Amino acid sequence: MKKKKNIAIVAHDNRKKDIMEWVGFNWKELAQHDLVCTGTTGKLVDDTLRTMCEQHGTVPPTVVRLKSGPLGGDQQLGAMICEGKVDLLIFFWDPMQPQPHDVDVKALLRITVLYNIPTASNRSTADFMVSSHLFHDEYDPILKDYRDYISRDLEMA
Ligand code: PGA
Repeated sequence: MKKKKNIAIVAHDNRKKDIMEWVGFNWKELAQHDLVCTGTTGKLVDDTLRTMCEQHGTVPPTVVRLKSGPLGGDQQLGAMICEGKVDLLIFFWDPMQPQPHDVDVKALLRITVLYNIPTASNRSTADFMVSSHLFHDEYDPILKDYRDYISRDLEMA
């Protein structure tokens, strides 16, 4: 993981206010990295960062917007994680309401564990993450060795 990270940000509708406040508070830290978001979250994150950067005369970062979560955005992020294109995930999911794409949410969270992706699901964890020196440093996450699993799969084929 390089100093400049690929940070994914997702928030369910009931958590969008929280993510905007958090992004607004941490705009300076976030502006040093590349951001990728699900569709609607991305619009809000982009607007918030643009406003903060314009107020301070700095260049806003590029925010890549994927499809909206219920339309496959979570799955796109999962695929990006498998391809090594996401370093960190800030995912404010809704603990109070089921989502139409609950299975996608579960799949995304599973993939983050599989690929040892630092993941924040609430503001405290996101605050700890953003204030860690590793946020702006190089870091090599330890990946579990799945070679035995792959060869077992081939033997069965
Ligand atoms: P959204 O998707 O950013 O397009 O709202 C988030 C989600 O519901 O997973």
